[in-house]
Amino acid sequence: MDAVIDIQHLSKAFGSHQVLKDIDFSVKKGEVVCIIGSSGSGKSTLLRCINLLEKPTGGQIIYHNENILDKKHDITAYRTKLGMVFQQFNLFNNHNVLNNCVVGQIKVLKRSREDAEKVAMKYLKVVGMDKYINAKPKQLSGGQKQRVAIARALAMEPDVLLFDEPTSALDPEMVGEVLKVMKELAESGLTMLVVTHEMGFAKEVSDRVVFMDKGVIAEEGTPDQIFNHPKEERTKEFLQRTRNSI
Ligand code: ADP
Ligand code: MG
Repeated sequence: MDAVIDIQHLSKAFGSHQVLKDIDFSVKKGEVVCIIGSSGSGKSTLLRCINLLEKPTGGQIIYHNENILDKKHDITAYRTKLGMVFQQFNLFNNHNVLNNCVVGQIKVLKRSREDAEKVAMKYLKVVGMDKYINAKPKQLSGGQKQRVAIARALAMEPDVLLFDEPTSALDPEMVGEVLKVMKELAESGLTMLVVTHEMGFAKEVSDRVVFMDKGVIAEEGTPDQIFNHPKEERTKEFLQRTRNSI
């Protein structure tokens, strides 16, 4: 199967602090990849480098057979093809739910308001938030806000959706509704790259699990390989620590 994104020798340093070291990895069409690892291991930086919120200091990001880090490459088109869901939702607080899902489509994709509203409604239905189109973010629970943020990302019809700990800022009783939506999206064939501390989700939903440690991919494999038969000592230690903290 073709890779949607293929990352080769990616590195990122902040000053003298080497945060990502020689990362090789790819996401294939329709694949759900979960990235796990301790806090500070570089998971967010990796996602932010992939969508160019951070500029990598080395390596290549191959997308449609081109290295998008080439100076001559137009990164605008690439960035519209990557959706992002953040831990803190990042909704526009002064806009209602519908408008949150519409403005990007009009500004970036140049869709008409009418078309953009149709697309927004389609995805608000998918996440179960179509009844709330006139609400402002402050009237919504955390779980509802995150579902709107997911609909907003989907409305841009990205090739791949990146999630950075989408449930970490939620009260425990709201985690389930967001994971349920994500699971449905995974089953519908959406290509997803998910940084998560939800080991149950990683185990159940992902096709592949990537374990990061200190800026490198320490181990990757199927959920069964990583969770039931980890090879690396540091993977075993991480999983042990996670189990103890539950
Ligand atoms: P994770 O998401 O796995 O918790 P991060 O990617 O956020 O890890 O961070 C990895 C390392 O990079 C940490 O040591 C963090 O302090 C450092 N880091 C992240 N962003 C910056 C930044 N903008 N400037 C300097 N250091 C940063
Ligand atoms: Mg992080």
